[in-house]
Amino acid sequence: MPNTLFDVCVVGSGPGGGIATYVLTKAGLKVALVEAGRVLRPGIDYNTHAWPYERLEKFRQTGNRLSPPQLKLEENHFTPVGDGPGHGLLKALGGRSLCWAGHSLRFGPIDFEQWPISYEEVAPYYSQAERFMGVYGHKDGLHNLPDGEFLQPVRMRCPEQLLRRGVERLKARGRKMEFVAQRKAILTEDHWSKRPRCHYCGACMKGCDVDAKYTSANTPIPLALKTGNLTLLTEAMMTRILMDRSGRRVSGIEYSTSSGRVEKVEAKVLVLACSAIETARHLLG
Ligand code: SF4
Repeated sequence: MPNTLFDVCVVGSGPGGGIATYVLTKAGLKVALVEAGRVLRPGIDYNTHAWPYERLEKFRQTGNRLSPPQLKLEENHFTPVGDGPGHGLLKALGGRSLCWAGHSLRFGPIDFEQWPISYEEVAPYYSQAERFMGVYGHKDGLHNLPDGEFLQPVRMRCPEQLLRRGVERLKARGRKMEFVAQRKAILTEDHWSKRPRCHYCGACMKGCDVDAKYTSANTPIPLALKTGNLTLLTEAMMTRILMDRSGRRVSGIEYSTSSGRVEKVEAKVLVLACSAIETARHLLG
């Protein structure tokens, strides 16, 4: 990117990078978002509704023993983490937000006791995030698991109802326990984002084919693109952080393209949001 000095370079388009990009571009800053993977099309590049025989065909084509969504994890040639494919990081626009379950719980007042900020100070931001993502849930009225700005809840399944009944019985006998129904960033009613409602297929962690579940790729990044302030670089693998002449300030990053070309992004500020492990690895590198 010769001659372009961005206000901010964000590396990684997952849960953190996606929302950071949206907030910064909305504030008028020029942002370069660098993502190592490519854009995956829900229902096409990962298809959790595929019939078993369609999956078998995919196995035959690829010679891979994994199911299609997992194939994406395998294909990502990311730094290996753990000893199984389930531990992989998803290299694609939206990152791991494509495969999260959507659970969206708040920390409560007790959790903040050792912190310099209180739950009351953070609560409005939780509300903002819940309205932005679209989070469903029951109002349980629990002190340390505060209720949020919920969309209408999903009806409990039989095992959940049985579990709740059991918890209520034990509580009546003096046991300290609570039952918490699911709270997830999945649409159960109309939402400003225009994402469709959930149809309860249960494949959230493999990737939602219809985008009912909130991901960085389906909500904040499209909004950031609409601001006109975002330059999106996909299939761009950051290889190192660049420093200025003084060696004290970050001046940008270097990345390699899918064809192996080495390019640079120059920026005044760098946001590293490429997972806990990769971010730490780059900072230590
Ligand atoms: S439609 Fe609902 S249950 Fe199915 S993957 Fe999407 S969010 Fe999950």
